[in-house]
Amino acid sequence: MSSNDAETVRRDRILSSKLYFDVPSSKVPVIYSSSYNISFLGIEKLHPFDSKKWGRVCQFLVAAGVIRKDQIIEPLEAKMNDLLVVHTESYLNSLKNSLNVAKIIEVPPVALFPHCIVKEKVERPFRNQVGGSILAAKVAKGRGWAINVGGGFHHCSAEQGGGFCMYADITLCIHYAFVQLNISSVMIIDLDAHQGNGHEKDFSHDSRVYILDMFNPEIYPFDYEARRCINQKVEVVSGTTTSEYLKKLEEALEVASTSYDPELIVYNAGTDILDGDPLGLLKISADGIARRDEKVFRFARARRIPIVMLTSGGYMKSSAKVIADSIENLSKQNLIDTGSTPGRM
Ligand SMILES: [Zn+2]
Repeated sequence: MSSNDAETVRRDRILSSKLYFDVPSSKVPVIYSSSYNISFLGIEKLHPFDSKKWGRVCQFLVAAGVIRKDQIIEPLEAKMNDLLVVHTESYLNSLKNSLNVAKIIEVPPVALFPHCIVKEKVERPFRNQVGGSILAAKVAKGRGWAINVGGGFHHCSAEQGGGFCMYADITLCIHYAFVQLNISSVMIIDLDAHQGNGHEKDFSHDSRVYILDMFNPEIYPFDYEARRCINQKVEVVSGTTTSEYLKKLEEALEVASTSYDPELIVYNAGTDILDGDPLGLLKISADGIARRDEKVFRFARARRIPIVMLTSGGYMKSSAKVIADSIENLSKQNLIDTGSTPGRM
C-alpha cells in the first residue's frame, strides 16, 4: 500500500468513527467514565498503583462542588476501527497474548489469565480512556479546554506498548484532530516525570507536531533515539525541587511560545513528579503541581489555543487528591469554566 492509500484508509476510519459525538452544552468539559477503573480479582494491588485513581479524582471534584456528576461527559470505547487509525494490525494482534499484555502493564500475573478475561478487565478500561482522549480534542476545540480524567499513555507508539501504556491515545487524539477539526499544528507539552517516547516516535518526522518534553533523564524509558525527536527537551534530574522545576517550566514555555504557533495543545499532566513518587524521583510539592498546571493553562488560554489535558502517570494513593485540587485551582483562577463556584456550595 502506498503512503497515499494508507492516508486515505486512515481518513476513512476516522470519518466513520463514533467517538466524535456532539456533546450538549449542559455538560462541563470534564471527560470520564466509571469504566476507566481497573479491578481485576484483586491482583491490580500487586502493582504499586492506585488503579481506581480516575474515579477518585471525580469523586473529589464532585465533593468539592467543582462539578456535578451529571455534568461529566462520558466517552465511548475506542473500537478496533479506531485503534487501527494508528496501530498496526500485528501490534493489536500481539495483545491477544496475555503474556504481552502482562509485560506492557508490568503486572506479571496477568500472563496467567486467558485473553477473554484480560480483554474485559484490562483492555476495556484503557480503550474507554482512549475514547476520552480522542473526544477531548473535539470538546476543547468548541469550549477552549477539556480534561480527560485518564489517558496520557505516552510510552505507547503505533507499533510498541510499554510502561503501563497499551494504546497510543495521544497519537490517536492528534490524528483525529487533524482530520475532524481540520487543523495542522499541534503542540504536545509533556510534563509527566518520564520521557514521552511513544508520541515522539510516532511524530518523529511530522512538522505538524511540536513536542516540549520535560522529564527526568535518569529513569525509564532511556529512549535515546526518541529523544532526538523532541523539539524542546528539558531535563529535570532526580531530586529537582519545586522552585527549580517551575523556573525551568516558565523558561520552556517562553521558548515554546516564540518557536511554534499551534492550533491545539495536548498537555500530558502526569503527577509522578510529586515528592515521594517511587518512579518519578522528583521533589515537586502538591502545591507545585497546581502551579504547574496553572502555568500551562494560562499559557494556552491567554493565547486562545484549545487545550486538552490528560492525567497520565502518578498512581500513589495521594495522586487523585492532588489532581482534583489542581483542577479546583484552575476553576478558582478562572482558567476553566465549570459553571459552578467551588466553596460556595
Ligand atoms: Zn510517568
